[in-house]
Amino acid sequence: MSKSTFRTNPDACPLAKKCGGCQLQNMTYERQLKWKQAREEILLGRFGRVGKIIGMDNPYHYRNKVQAAFGRTKGGKYISGVYQSGTHRIVNVDSCMIEDETADSITVDIRNMLPAFRIMTYDEDKRTGFLRHVLIRRGFTTGEVMAVLVAADSYFPMKKKFTAALLERHPEITTIVLNINPKDTNLVLGDREEVLYGKGYIEDELCGLRFAISPKSFYQINPVQTEKLYAKAIEYAALDKDTTVIDAYCGIGTIGLAAAKTAGQVIGVELNRDAVHDAISNAKRNSMKNIRFYCADAGDFMDDMVTQGERADVVFMDPPRSGSSRKFIDSLLNMAPEKVVYISCNPETLARDLRLITKKYKVQKITPVDMFPHTHHIETVVLLVKLPPDDVIKVKPDVSELPVSIHDGDATYDEIKKYVLSHHGLKVSSLYISQVKRKFGLKVTEAYNKPKSENSHQPQCPPEKEKAIINALKYFKMID
Ligand code: SAH
Repeated sequence: MSKSTFRTNPDACPLAKKCGGCQLQNMTYERQLKWKQAREEILLGRFGRVGKIIGMDNPYHYRNKVQAAFGRTKGGKYISGVYQSGTHRIVNVDSCMIEDETADSITVDIRNMLPAFRIMTYDEDKRTGFLRHVLIRRGFTTGEVMAVLVAADSYFPMKKKFTAALLERHPEITTIVLNINPKDTNLVLGDREEVLYGKGYIEDELCGLRFAISPKSFYQINPVQTEKLYAKAIEYAALDKDTTVIDAYCGIGTIGLAAAKTAGQVIGVELNRDAVHDAISNAKRNSMKNIRFYCADAGDFMDDMVTQGERADVVFMDPPRSGSSRKFIDSLLNMAPEKVVYISCNPETLARDLRLITKKYKVQKITPVDMFPHTHHIETVVLLVKLPPDDVIKVKPDVSELPVSIHDGDATYDEIKKYVLSHHGLKVSSLYISQVKRKFGLKVTEAYNKPKSENSHQPQCPPEKEKAIINALKYFKMID
C-alpha cells in the first residue's frame, strides 16, 4: 500500500470542510487509531504504559443522536443539517458517515414533507417561522426511535395530519414530541414539551441495564463503544460485595448502576438536576437498591464526605472536558480510596489532573477507547492504585510559614509556555511568568525572585500576555 492510500480515506466526506465535525476523516480508520495512540503516548506516556486503543469494528453511522437545524436557502429551498463551522449558515446534509442512517432518512423526509403541510422553517434573523430543529434518537438495542420537532411556538394546526403522515413513512418511530423553544438562544431544546405520539421517551439497554431516554437526557452517543469503555472501567475496579464505590460526575448513573451489580454500596454524585432525576428513575427501573444519588458539586460532596469521616474503597470519576476541580482532587487525596478509576474525554486535562493525583497514587493501567471515530476526540480510562505510605511524595512541610504558597504538582515554566502558545498563540518568557506568579503569591524560581526595585530595568509583562498566563495558571489549578 502506498503511503498516500494509507493516509487518505476513500470514503472521505464531501462536506467535511464546511461542517468541520470530523477532523480526521481524510485518514483511513487504521491511520486515525495510530494518530490517537500516538497522541495519548505523548500526553500520558510519562505516567505509565499506554495500552492499545480500543477501536470500533465498524466505525460508521455510530451516532444514535442526530440533530439537524432547519432553514431555507435564498432561493427558498428547504434545507436541514449542521451549521457551517463558526457560523450560523446551514449546510444541507442528506446523509452523514457517522450518523445513524434511520435518523438521517427521517430528517430528510421531514424536510421533504414541509411544503405539502405549509410548514415554514424558523428564520433566526427575522424571528419568524415555525420549525427550528429536528432531533432523532434511536435505542441501539431496542430499536425504539424518538423524533423531536423543535418549534418556535406551540401553534401547530396540522399536527395530527403531519404526525400520521410521518408515521406512515416511518413506522419504526415509537414516539414523536413537539418541543417549544421561542427563545433567541443557541440551545436547541426549549423548556416546554407536548407529546404528539407514543410515550414521550425511548428506552435502551446498556451493560445489561435498561435506561429511559427523554429528549433532554444525557446519554452516551456511541453505545457500542460505551459498553466497552464501562466494561474496562469496571474490570479495573475489581469490585466485590464489600466495596463501597463513589461514581463522581455520574450523569444518569450509567457507570454507578453497572458497578452496583457487583459492589456493596454505590454513591452517585452529579451537578445536573435533570440527570440526577433520570439516575434515580433508572435505579428503580432496574430494581437496584444499593445505589443512592446526590445532586451536588462533586468537589463539595467529596469534601463533605471527608469532613464527616466517610470514605469509599473505589472512586470512579468521569468529569466533563474541563477536567476535575482542585477541591475534588484534594478531597480525593484526603479520602484516599484504594483505587481511583479516571474516565476522561480529554487527555490534556486528564494529564494535568494526573500530575496531582499521582502524589499519592500510581498509574497502573491506561486504555484509550475510540468513542468518536473520524473526530479528534479520545476517551481514556485510567486505573490508579494508592501508593504505600512510604512512597507518597512528601508535601513540603510548613508551607504556612513561607511567604509564598507551594503546591506540589504545579506546572513547570515550560508547561506554562507550551499552554500559552497553543491556546493563545503567544510566546511568553520565564520572566513574565514569574512576574504574574508573584502577583498571585506563588513561588517563583530563585533567578526571578527579585523585588522589582532591585531590577527596575526588567521588561514588564504586557496585559495581553498577563491575561494568557493567568489563564494557564487557572488551567493548571495553581490559582482559582
Ligand atoms: N458518567 C456519565 C456522565 C459523564 S459526563 C456517563 O458516563 O454517562 C460529565 C458529567 O459531569 C455531566 O453529567 C455533567 O453534568 C457533570 N458535571 C459537570 N460538572 C460537575 C460538577 N462540578 N460536579 C458534579 N457533576 C458535574
